Amino acid sequence: MPKSPNTIDYAHNISCIDTEQMRPGLACCYLLRSGDSYAFVECGTSLSVPGLLRVLQRRGIAPEQVAYVMPTHVHLDHAGGAGLLMSRLPNAELVMHPRGARHMIDPTKLIEGAAAVYGAENLAAMYGEILPVPEQRVIVADDGFRLDFSGRELLFLDAPGHARHHYAIWDAESRGIFSGDVFGLSYREADGPRGPYLFPTTTPVQFEPEAWQRTLDRFLELDPVYVYLTHYGRVGDVRELAQHLRRGIASYELLARQHAAAPDRHAAIKEAITAHALQELKAMSAPLSEQQARELLGFDMELNAQGLEVWLDKQKAA
Ligand SMILES: [Zn+2]
Repeated sequence: MPKSPNTIDYAHNISCIDTEQMRPGLACCYLLRSGDSYAFVECGTSLSVPGLLRVLQRRGIAPEQVAYVMPTHVHLDHAGGAGLLMSRLPNAELVMHPRGARHMIDPTKLIEGAAAVYGAENLAAMYGEILPVPEQRVIVADDGFRLDFSGRELLFLDAPGHARHHYAIWDAESRGIFSGDVFGLSYREADGPRGPYLFPTTTPVQFEPEAWQRTLDRFLELDPVYVYLTHYGRVGDVRELAQHLRRGIASYELLARQHAAAPDRHAAIKEAITAHALQELKAMSAPLSEQQARELLGFDMELNAQGLEVWLDKQKAA
């Protein structure tokens, strides 16, 4: 049997499973347990699904025991594998944001949108085949929707800022929030003596800084002890990290505006946000050389620069 993906077991019956996208430690999903029932938060890409099924098998969990699959938003690293995973979990229901549900039922637009960002030729290699989910298996989670997961209450919050089709899940049992991408990205390789480095993710096409700040306000009102990041793993010190993220979002807005008229706008913004990240990593004594940091963050910096350009163009059009 092929090797199983890396997993981390946290308290409160929550496990982090690597979705093995591009490299270990880039993206994960979470497996939650309540009694004999299980639920996934996120599902990775279609290429992640065999690994997730191996984890279930190794743990003696029958596919029938998985009651819910809950991708935080429809970006492919979170929801691309939903159709394939759902086809292997006969009793599972897919819980989606109201703006995301239709894209899971008919993924045509999702595939077109992703092809525009990544290029059609890269899409299949990076994400595999994207399969539809039967409509009758989809639950729409409006803002404030409460799911009784075998006695474990999960509260769904509309969470714009990174994407309008994004929800977050408050798990009262662990006092934690499953944040998808709206609490930023933070890779464990960059953890240093001063804690984690966390930065915004402004992937095209729905970066909305003001909405994002309000989403963070709502998170903090819940007084969370943990945030479960899809990229990557559980973090604490939520208030401090939220401040860090707020400053990061403000810096991104400023840097994008400063380079809006540069001859090669894309290259200028990408280099500016990369330089900003390098400076912060250094200030935090992160254990990475400049070269290692550029490699670790290069993919995100590319997508963040693209998303900031889309945001600039929308400002201009408004
Ligand atoms: Zn993501």
